[in-house]
Amino acid sequence: MTDTLEIKITKTNKSRLEETDFSHLPFGKIFSDHMFIADYEDGEWKNFQIVPYGDIPLSPAISVLHYGQAFFEGLKAYKHENGKISIFRPYKNAERFNKSAIRLCAPELPEDIFVQSIAALVDLDKDWIPSAPDHSLYIRPYMFSTDPYLGVQPSKTYKYIILTCPVGAYFSKPLKVKIETTWSRSSEGGFGFAKAAGNYAGSLLPAQEAMKEGFDQLIWTDAREHAYIEELGAANVMFMIDGVLVTPSTRDTILKGVTRDSILTLARSRGVPVEERRVSIAEVIESLKNGKLTEAFGVGTAATITPIASIGFEGELHHLPDTSKAEFSNRALKALNEIRYGLVPDEFNWNYLVG
Ligand SMILES: *Cc1c(COP(=O)(O)O)cnc(C)c1O
Repeated sequence: MTDTLEIKITKTNKSRLEETDFSHLPFGKIFSDHMFIADYEDGEWKNFQIVPYGDIPLSPAISVLHYGQAFFEGLKAYKHENGKISIFRPYKNAERFNKSAIRLCAPELPEDIFVQSIAALVDLDKDWIPSAPDHSLYIRPYMFSTDPYLGVQPSKTYKYIILTCPVGAYFSKPLKVKIETTWSRSSEGGFGFAKAAGNYAGSLLPAQEAMKEGFDQLIWTDAREHAYIEELGAANVMFMIDGVLVTPSTRDTILKGVTRDSILTLARSRGVPVEERRVSIAEVIESLKNGKLTEAFGVGTAATITPIASIGFEGELHHLPDTSKAEFSNRALKALNEIRYGLVPDEFNWNYLVG
């Protein structure tokens, strides 16, 4: 770790903690008292500050609003029974933040600054971390370009901001999903591997169309052939086929999830056979039909594991076995939660302790 980050802290004189209803925490709508802000100017990161959460003045000409140089991260802090606070694998997010930065021609942020800025904000607003089971503090770091200039070129100035939101138990109702073979989320040579704002803008219309057809989510397939499975909405996707945990191998069209990596690591350590490889639609449909596909689920920070109840493809709906009996995914969810809430030894060193 480098020297401790020098942060100018301005505390709020009116906390909103008292008036916040912690028994009702819709995802991403309630923000803690403070936020972190830094500026990139003259080739360096500066003005590290924690200030009360609130509006910020910006020029209407800033380039992000026109050309979309923007990207983000998503991770969580947990409160343990003994009061300790941990952030789950923040250096993985720091690394990915910089991969996004490089692809979007934005400046990298030193990993220690990323992690220390998050830790400082979480520590200051630690009373905002809910302690109820399955609750946590969602952390949203993001960067965007701020040059007030309409020319298409990489901006010379940026802001890096962190917001945090107390979030409740994510109720992951088993999903009815559709294998998408018309629209694409990303393509080879594009930036699907980056958590770039534009990827999500482009996915709204396809998702809305699928919802009109009665589906909850899309399974994205490769843009070239629409023959191979890539992701589930904004989560990675996994299948249990004939006792083997199968997931698409990552490539430039697929976002490399921290949850994906954590579940694969857990599976391997428990002796579950794992295959990271191309997964064709044909294989998935075939193994749904012959009963070899016993579990399918999305994996990501927000919901951890989202079970899939049925998969639509070419007008036909294929049902999976009862997800409440899904042995692997239920076991994996429990194992991951036990680590994150400090209920078992942190055997992979995933918890970054704060304070
Ligand atoms: C964030 C995200 C994921 C999941 O990544 P985690 O690090 O596990 O949260 C997967 N796919 C997409 C497209 C994402 O944006």
